[in-house]
Amino acid sequence: MPKEIGPSSYECDCGYVAQFSEATILALKQRSLMKRPWLSDGGEAGGHIVVFEGGKMMTMLCPKERYNEKPAPCFTRLQGRYLAFIHQYTTLHRVPPAEHEMQRFFQVSPPTVHQMILTLERKGLIKRTPGKARSIKVLVAAEQLERLT
Ligand SMILES: [Zn+2]
Repeated sequence: MPKEIGPSSYECDCGYVAQFSEATILALKQRSLMKRPWLSDGGEAGGHIVVFEGGKMMTMLCPKERYNEKPAPCFTRLQGRYLAFIHQYTTLHRVPPAEHEMQRFFQVSPPTVHQMILTLERKGLIKRTPGKARSIKVLVAAEQLERLT
């Protein structure tokens, strides 16, 4: 497991120590309460990437392992809930949900759902076929989505 060995230093499993400025780490820990930011130290092969979540370091990706794991996609908790809903609905019904179904589930207005879809699309988290109903495809791996209960 990668370790936090100082307020802004992280030691990878491979023994490498990535160092950042304390201010940078503090800002990232703050942001990680809302989403999952990540930071690369910019070293060789793209550098070691430190991923934060819930105010602390979650994991560290080692370039020596050729990035077996991709950095976590960045989305807010609410965006994540929409992604999870679309994924679960599609799994259950074998067809993606329509906007009015998301509207009913999240108890929001049609423009709110539509704006959310546009945002998710712009961030590259979903893909749609323009002008075609029920064509949303989630581009985030299922294991990176939370389960809706
Ligand atoms: Zn490493």
